[in-house]
Amino acid sequence: MEAQYDIAIVGGGPAGLSAAYSAARSGAKVILFEKDEAIAHNIRTSGVTWIDSMDNLGIPSQYYNPIQNYRFISPANDVLISGDVAKSCVLDVRGAYQYLAMLAAKEGAHIMVRSNVTNILRVGDAVAGIKVNTPKGEIVVNCTLVIDASGFSSSAGRKAGMVPEWRRYGVGAEYECYCDNADSSTWTLMVGQQYSEAGYAWVFPLSGNRVRIGVGIGRPDSNVDPLDKLHSLMENRPKPVGSLGKIQPLELHYGFIPNEGVRKSTVADGLLLVGDAAGQSNPLVLEGIRYAIEFGRLAGRVGAESLSTGSTKGSLAEYEKIWREKVESKITSALKVQSRWIGLTDEQWDKEIEILRDMTADEFLDFIKADFTAGKMMKLALHHPKLAARQLFNIIMKG
Ligand SMILES: Cc1cc2nc3c(=O)[nH]c(=O)nc-3n(C[C@H](O)[C@H](O)[C@H](O)COP(=O)(O)OP(=O)(O)OC[C@H]3O[C@@H](n4cnc5c(N)ncnc54)[C@H](O)[C@@H]3O)c2cc1C
Repeated sequence: MEAQYDIAIVGGGPAGLSAAYSAARSGAKVILFEKDEAIAHNIRTSGVTWIDSMDNLGIPSQYYNPIQNYRFISPANDVLISGDVAKSCVLDVRGAYQYLAMLAAKEGAHIMVRSNVTNILRVGDAVAGIKVNTPKGEIVVNCTLVIDASGFSSSAGRKAGMVPEWRRYGVGAEYECYCDNADSSTWTLMVGQQYSEAGYAWVFPLSGNRVRIGVGIGRPDSNVDPLDKLHSLMENRPKPVGSLGKIQPLELHYGFIPNEGVRKSTVADGLLLVGDAAGQSNPLVLEGIRYAIEFGRLAGRVGAESLSTGSTKGSLAEYEKIWREKVESKITSALKVQSRWIGLTDEQWDKEIEILRDMTADEFLDFIKADFTAGKMMKLALHHPKLAARQLFNIIMKG
């Protein structure tokens, strides 16, 4: 079977759904393919993000649990940063992504689930379509632009020879659980060997009785399976897992996230990469949902506007220019902090998280969101009493 669309989108995560919404809203004829059974059927994320970003992106508050306090635990240290108001949140990921799908459908985007994009089509050097295995059989989609929003796999970009496989990445395993007592307004990150050899573990609450407990491990620094580590956390119940009372896992989440900075190029003739496929995530806590939605919408709009000129690399350049200006230098600086963190011993972690103790909640949030500006970091570097902190902020400023 053959079909003709203006824009074909690979992947129904936050980037693809947001691109479908804005491209259809800008007048393009759009189709999106998702290989899983349903939108957000297999969840591959913990869903921590920031309330101001969700507000700006128009995600209703019914799709998240607000978080006001941030706790860090290392083997012999425990730091709690208390905010006056909630500024972070834990998403109801399935609800929020289905909401993004509803927005796209309302604008007229066609969405097909259980549909795996297996190859790209070319005319000369330009990408001119895709092949898709669907429940109706193979479909050949001819189009002016393919948007690769396939996440970590970057499947269309790799088929086109535009990008290689990621070399540095995180692997995460998480249970969403019932528990007897969680503090619904505090999320917790845990660092040190017993939690993760190269990465961190977490407890993220959705309510007083529902939490996500997970472990993330960086490759190639460690080859440990995060699921094994997660099982040992659930069995041994170190702080803060022990205080949750009875824990009953209800759902397993497992996923991969790139961790080497942004792609060198995210546009080619007839092809654009967005979201994790483009490396658009903050390496400090490996969060990318807000970028996936924001830059997905940008990709859809610029993609639709480029149709009249044939979606060449030149006409897609605005997309690349805008997203790089917004986040590239922040991501590069955050990678420098991350390289300081990789390989810290338990004792070094005990000292490192001490840096956070003197921060206000707002300073902490700017830092963890990689929302670095030279002014803010200069202030922290000059006024922070600890030498290690001054070194840390200097690293960022040099970025
Ligand atoms: C363990 C873990 C925890 C995380 N925690 C957070 C967090 O707390 N906060 C945060 O902001 N970010 C977090 N992230 C990162 C966040 O999940 C990503 O940045 C975000 O999902 C990127 O969105 P995306 O749409 O680019 O990709 P994805 O969400 O990965 O969506 C890609 C979609 O494409 C589909 N697909 C792939 N290949 C094909 C194909 N060939 N054909 C059809 N469909 C295809 C996939 O099934 C998937 O649905 C985490 C990631 C991991 C792995």
